[in-house]
Amino acid sequence: MSQDDWAKRRIICDLDTHRPGPLLLCTAGIHGNEPAGGRAVVNMADVLGSDSLLRGRFLALTGNISALSRQARCLEQDLNRTWTNDRISRLRHDPKSAATAEEVEMAALLPILHHAMNQASGEVFFLDLHSTSGPGAPFACCMEIRHHRQFMESFSIPMILGLRPRMSGTLIDYIAEFGHSAVGVEGGQNDDPATIQCHEAVIRVAMAAIGMTHSSQTVHEDQARKLLQERCTGLPRYLTVKHRYEVKEGDGFVMLPGFQNFSKIQEGQVVARDNMGDILAVEDGIMLFPRYQSGGEDGFFLAETTAI
Ligand SMILES: [Zn+2]
Repeated sequence: MSQDDWAKRRIICDLDTHRPGPLLLCTAGIHGNEPAGGRAVVNMADVLGSDSLLRGRFLALTGNISALSRQARCLEQDLNRTWTNDRISRLRHDPKSAATAEEVEMAALLPILHHAMNQASGEVFFLDLHSTSGPGAPFACCMEIRHHRQFMESFSIPMILGLRPRMSGTLIDYIAEFGHSAVGVEGGQNDDPATIQCHEAVIRVAMAAIGMTHSSQTVHEDQARKLLQERCTGLPRYLTVKHRYEVKEGDGFVMLPGFQNFSKIQEGQVVARDNMGDILAVEDGIMLFPRYQSGGEDGFFLAETTAI
């Protein structure tokens, strides 16, 4: 099997021990220009096999199959902004009402997600594997941390909070509404091989944190934790988003070169340009998601270190 065959099918892997335990649900390729998550899942499914798992089920799904086939972030709509309650209830009730390429993907994903969550014999944990157009260390995003702190803290990578008011319709937001622990993971730059390693490590660490794996895996899990810690040396543990720069269609937005996730930015610093001229940072902050790709409404985010 060539490595990217996963991107053509909905279920990347389904490792079910048929023993009561947690469900680790995972999506990869929600954005079609982000192949690292799916490649990591394939690698992990190959090395884990059923002997490594003690209990529960690991189910990983492909997100935007049609966009992945064109290596495009999306075809008509950003599939990580479409998970709104009205649209979901329409698509669940009437899958044929799907009006865009991304709604077709949602109509296919929804019954699988719901069936897996309903059938779960234990707690449900969700990882949505992404990568970024700009370089930088891995980090994670969650909507709610209070009730899921143990799981969230297991990853040892910076956790971004405060996205909800600035980013609606995300898949983690939808899954978190059921009370499940849902984390979006940005493993690094889209096509960097190191991003695949980060996602593999995140899957391992998540499995260890929820008690899915056999003791034979402990040594690999320790290595995975170390890899993530090393990639994130010196970075803050928690950050809160305080500013989002929205790009409007036709703006001609171009990020200046050289920014990474976690670049320190000063108020008044020129960070991008568009048809109107320079775009200045409105306040001091830590750069997240600098947009080095065409398309998408998020130009960049500024965050600050926070304590929880
Ligand atoms: Zn993404």
